[in-house]
Amino acid sequence: MLRLKGKGVSEGIAIGPLCFYKRQTSDIPRYETKDAAAEWQRFKDAQQLAVEQLGEIAEKAREQAGDEAAVLFETHAMMTEDLDYEEHIQNSVENLKLNAEAAVKDASDFFADMFASMDDDYMKERAADVKDVSARIIGILTGAGQGGMDSDVPAVVAADDLAPSETIQMDKSKILGFATEGGSGNSHTAILARTMGIPAIVGLGDQLKQLTEGCMVVVDGRSGEIFADPDQQTLDAYKEKLEAHIKHRKLLAELKGKPSVTKDGRSIKICCNIGNPDDIQFVKENDGEGIGLFRSEFLYLGCSDYPSEDYQFEAYKKVLEEMAPKEVIIRTMDIGADKQIDYFKMPHEENPALGMRALRISLTRPEVFRTQLRALFRASAYGKLGIMFPMVASVWEVREAKAACEKVKEELRSEGIPFDENTSIGIMIETPAAAVMSDLLAKEVDFFSCGTNDLTQYTLAVDRQNNDLGRFFDPHHPAVLRLLKLVADNAHKEGIWVGICGELGADPELTQTFLSIGIDELSVSPRSVLPLREKVRSSSVKEL
Ligand code: PEP
Ligand code: MG
Repeated sequence: MLRLKGKGVSEGIAIGPLCFYKRQTSDIPRYETKDAAAEWQRFKDAQQLAVEQLGEIAEKAREQAGDEAAVLFETHAMMTEDLDYEEHIQNSVENLKLNAEAAVKDASDFFADMFASMDDDYMKERAADVKDVSARIIGILTGAGQGGMDSDVPAVVAADDLAPSETIQMDKSKILGFATEGGSGNSHTAILARTMGIPAIVGLGDQLKQLTEGCMVVVDGRSGEIFADPDQQTLDAYKEKLEAHIKHRKLLAELKGKPSVTKDGRSIKICCNIGNPDDIQFVKENDGEGIGLFRSEFLYLGCSDYPSEDYQFEAYKKVLEEMAPKEVIIRTMDIGADKQIDYFKMPHEENPALGMRALRISLTRPEVFRTQLRALFRASAYGKLGIMFPMVASVWEVREAKAACEKVKEELRSEGIPFDENTSIGIMIETPAAAVMSDLLAKEVDFFSCGTNDLTQYTLAVDRQNNDLGRFFDPHHPAVLRLLKLVADNAHKEGIWVGICGELGADPELTQTFLSIGIDELSVSPRSVLPLREKVRSSSVKEL
């Protein structure tokens, strides 16, 4: 097995034979023309034909890759007739008496060098467009045919570089992936590959020369790796990934923008769990309907000292602004247990999972809590915020936490700092105590979100960190499911919504159960949104 590493510019996995792109190269003739007027006319005819060809390619691109790709070739057609470009060629033909092919080649070099020397990365890449357009005109003038891939079966296309027009003109059903020596993430070929959903790796340089025509390759367009003649283990692992990838792409195409509603009309909200503001791109990509759990402790874990109010404010504001008008539930920090932070200087505990963690820390360190609440309420002015407290066991804890919120709101009011007076306040149901007391807790808050990871741990007295406990950690245990039903019933009696944000929420085996007990929201990792939506849309509450 041989492993090559380049730059992955279009995600996805391809497995298949390698096929080198064949180009019909012909030397570009260079001679002194006797009849400059005839030579100029020869160029004009070739230019006209190139424009017509590019128009046809634009139409093909529109069908295969959408309007954006079509515009690229319409732009190429315009470049072909660009006045500066044409003037450069005309000068070479009429004044320097150069033949048309050489005149086009010189203009191509001149403008490509000009673009390549620009500072802007995007403009640099336009050098490839000028070369592509010029190669087409020269090809028409010399009568050289089109290049192509010579394979009867779908293959990974390898080339030194590929021009956008070469990429779009290949039979898409035959292309599994692209692997090129040159190129960059900004090149139009990379952009086209992404639009067409074809995995691509560029910048492989001379490594590509080690591969032979027809050898079996695995292309990982995300990591930028190519495995040639892969061993069985690598092949099996990638086949599995490929299957999952194909399924996910299918779901994306079918379900993005569609409602999460059962066959008999029952809606459930499918939101996402995130750990930092950058995760929002995945939420958007996967069509998350909001953020059901932002684990704010990851901000603390990423700092070497307590994060300041402003630092936190910026992070929360970014998430709220980017998700608006969708709701964002931010959980106050859940430090402790498995998430220890040096600068918190927590004393050693025999049983950290039962110790000073989450809301217990917030209530015993009011200054740390206040800083976070100020940042949260300030950010509430920029979107739809819900604040959620973790690890609640008693009603008094919630009352104290709410009192801290009121104090902060009062401060902000007196400082004239805007915030959303209607910011909703919720709690996580993660302890059996909270589940059992959910009738009273429901009177205190606007929503519940069940943290089934901890709820399972504390209900079954099974350490969630201990892999050896295996089947003893059973979130499907009737004790956990009964608690969830109790919590849902109590929430609805008080007219508040109830969600699940633990891993169990994404378990398709329980989707029907969750629908039947009336769960209103599931918050899961971004990649689970669409599989879950598919499951919901094929379910029916009445059938349960
Ligand atoms: C949970 O306990 O289910 C939960 C969502 O919180 P965390 O996993 O962060 O403890
Ligand atoms: Mg938890």
